[in-house]
Amino acid sequence: MADTFAAIATPLGEGGVGIVRVSGPGSLNIMKVVFKECPDKVEPRHVYYGHALDASGNVIDEMICIYMRAPHTFTGEDVVEFQAHGSNVSLRLIVMSAISAGARIADPGEFTKLAFLNGKLDLSQAEAVIDLIKARSEKPLSIASDQLNGSLGQEIVAIRNNIKDVLAQMAVNIDFPDEDIEQVSCDEFITELKRQNDRLQSLIKSSEFGKIAREGIKIALVGRTNVGKSSLLNGLLGENRAIVTDIPGTTRDTIEESSSIGGYPIVVVDTAGIRDTDDVIEQIGIERSKNEIEEADLVVMVADGSTELAAEDFEIAEHVANKKVMLVINKEDLGMTAAQSDIDKLKSIIGCDTGDIVYTSVKTVKGIGKVRDAIERNLARGFIKSDGGNIVTNERHKDALVRAKAVLVHGIELLEMREPLEVAEIEVHDSFQILGEIIGETASEEILDTVFSKFCLGK
Ligand code: GDP
Ligand code: ZN
Repeated sequence: MADTFAAIATPLGEGGVGIVRVSGPGSLNIMKVVFKECPDKVEPRHVYYGHALDASGNVIDEMICIYMRAPHTFTGEDVVEFQAHGSNVSLRLIVMSAISAGARIADPGEFTKLAFLNGKLDLSQAEAVIDLIKARSEKPLSIASDQLNGSLGQEIVAIRNNIKDVLAQMAVNIDFPDEDIEQVSCDEFITELKRQNDRLQSLIKSSEFGKIAREGIKIALVGRTNVGKSSLLNGLLGENRAIVTDIPGTTRDTIEESSSIGGYPIVVVDTAGIRDTDDVIEQIGIERSKNEIEEADLVVMVADGSTELAAEDFEIAEHVANKKVMLVINKEDLGMTAAQSDIDKLKSIIGCDTGDIVYTSVKTVKGIGKVRDAIERNLARGFIKSDGGNIVTNERHKDALVRAKAVLVHGIELLEMREPLEVAEIEVHDSFQILGEIIGETASEEILDTVFSKFCLGK
């Protein structure tokens, strides 16, 4: 029974329903102990209703119980699910009851790790389970869901198979250089390897977008005092304000919150002034704002259209001119006083398109909507990958792709220089091995530990 483990699979706290999951060869026996009304012969995938018993045989809670027989389960082993009311106490008692019946507590990520070890998922799919659980908006969720489906893993397998075919041909040419076996020419190797290299390149490129999908598109709001930055920030976050605010690397004294636009997670920062000043305290705030601007994927500059533009507006524009900038001319409801020639001047300093200038009033829901739409259009142009290919969101995958590509490129160069085939073969083989890390085929114990340590209990 040592291989049978149990854990609460649903979030801790009060919920309508909570699930305890048990996996391993002892699952059925545990069900017989924990489930009061357990029949002698349990039908797999049949839903049973009855009561849960604690370790001393007292009724804990009502429960629904399902037995799933290996190998067609998530982990690939026998699985039993106990669905009770989502009270911490009753779920804990059920786990303890399972333990006294012979299970042990699962390690974090152990259900998914077992699924990987039993060949139910490749490593990239297992990692997608974490991404799926942690997704903060629709697009990252759909990317994780594709990855869980195995689309990235399948592409890696396809690339590896093509490289393997080349390696096999190379081996023939190396082993039988003079014999009458069909010799594939060096140029054909080069052509095929370049084709695979292009696929690696496009996966690596997709990771730029993957980072944005994962961490959010960082938007910095700039503009002088009183133009409406805070109003815009609140409006953008509005009812879509994400529950998650623990964004790594952020201090609470610059206002930074996350939300989503068009399904993409966004992180919005309201910067303090960035005017040149002699005041030391002010200087610190300015430095921070400058860093925020530097890190931003998109800058939204707000100006007050109901007054003449000021020297400070142009000064701020100069500071952000090297970034991707959109311009919001605010307070339209008060009438436009700012001269069009000044707005044109601002536009030419920051170098944005006419479509990236929004005349609006961020005090109104409609005005916020206009800004949102403009941001979404801007993102769609510049950031969002839409060719339908796989998107690499995971740093570990990107790192392996970069290393695999580097050795592959080197292998191709050696072939082009007509170095001995044996020498190029080593590089090409390395590339094949490194790609295997992504799907877990060649992943070391250390890699596996790192991946599964990111899971929480019960997953
Ligand atoms: P910030 O200093 O740039 O953050 O500007 P705030 O968002 O704090 O706004 C400054 C003042 O302008 C507040 O009194 C807002 O209510 C007002 N305000 C902001 N946007 C608009 C707008 O579109 N129209 C009008 N009439 N007032 C606005
Ligand atoms: Zn403000």
